[in-house]
Amino acid sequence: MSDWLTPGLAHLWLPYTQMKTAPAPLPVVASDGVRLRLADGRELVDGISSWWTACHGYGHPHIRAAVAGQLATLPHVMFAGLAHEPAARLATRLAALLPGDLERVFFTESGSVAVEVALKMALQYWRNKGRADRQRIVYFRHGYHGDTFATMALCDPEEGMHTLFAGSMPDQLMAELPTDDTMRRALDLLLDTHAERIAAVVVEPLVQGAGGMRMHDAATLAFIAEACRGHGVLLIADEIMTGFGRTGRMFACEEAGVVPDIVCLSKALTGGTLPLAATVARGHVFDAFLSDDPGAALMHGPTYMANALACAAANASLDLFASEPRLAQVVAIEAQLATELSPCREIDGVADVRIKGAIGAVELRGGIDLDGMRRRFAELGVWVRPFGKVVYLMPPFVIAADDLSVLTSALRQVLAERATTLK
Ligand SMILES: *Cc1c(COP(=O)(O)O)cnc(C)c1O
Repeated sequence: MSDWLTPGLAHLWLPYTQMKTAPAPLPVVASDGVRLRLADGRELVDGISSWWTACHGYGHPHIRAAVAGQLATLPHVMFAGLAHEPAARLATRLAALLPGDLERVFFTESGSVAVEVALKMALQYWRNKGRADRQRIVYFRHGYHGDTFATMALCDPEEGMHTLFAGSMPDQLMAELPTDDTMRRALDLLLDTHAERIAAVVVEPLVQGAGGMRMHDAATLAFIAEACRGHGVLLIADEIMTGFGRTGRMFACEEAGVVPDIVCLSKALTGGTLPLAATVARGHVFDAFLSDDPGAALMHGPTYMANALACAAANASLDLFASEPRLAQVVAIEAQLATELSPCREIDGVADVRIKGAIGAVELRGGIDLDGMRRRFAELGVWVRPFGKVVYLMPPFVIAADDLSVLTSALRQVLAERATTLK
């Protein structure tokens, strides 16, 4: 065992963790490719890419070299009154990669803050247009947009933290995803009724991640975009989880031909090496902030915004999307997940199997012993961490077919073992 874990655990406060009862975290000492090495020498095949970030696997030499080079010259500098090449290059490249005229990039350090900035942009956009009364945000059931106060208010009211912090959060408008005609009419009606008070609609395009790996089709996303246009409200696409290839396209919005007014990026932006996020606005959104009035400027500026190390890592990550066959790898992963996870449908206690790009999710029914399942996965040599009712795989895109089979067979085995305990 490691000599730092027990003393450190007396002082660490862990995420989403009941510290009284939760099992101790596994001490990890190194990461390489698709593997995590534990203090006792065991290696786990990583099925979740460190919260969906490590799309190129761990320790890719190109990203390492880029970060090391940046560290030697300019690791960080404040971003007000000063600018640096890694950020300028990254903004230019993101603008070129994103669809339409999504071309103005505001850098922050986490996904939640990127969504906060998008909300601030949307509200101030309307304020600058003399419509300070447009302040409400429409969000979708089962969505997840972050853990800060403004973003919590946009997460699923039952699964999210609404009840815990009720009264401390802004009151926003929840809609159902318009996956059929009835729900399409309902969304239209909601927008008709409240349009004059609505600043923006926010959606996770194609896959709602932390709300349970729920998937909708491109037509549903296209309908949302059309409804926003029809009602004159802004569309914010939260591509923090879906961005950078996870669903099969560089950005999920591309599959529906949708150009949102604002898009949020983070997670895989740096290939899982350093924290960085970006909120990217279309030209017309940015233009609403141009004025002789200093008060019309976007009032935001995190201390570590556009951190040069993180921007260098992100540029290196984009190089890899160009020089290595990432999107083809996602297509191959999708096919293999479909073959190897579909049999889960026959296992008792499985409610649904969903696959999209490099995402494979199995939804369970009945009681779920999350800690027990997590322990079992580690015993089988894989890092898989079910949450809520879902066991899912989101491996690095570079995973080899035999390593992916290690993940899928562990998943099938754990679900089969669980089935024997269900009545
Ligand atoms: C993870 C995530 C966030 C929050 O990002 P953090 O970096 O954890 O703050 C927001 N939206 C979506 C869709 C996410 O998956």
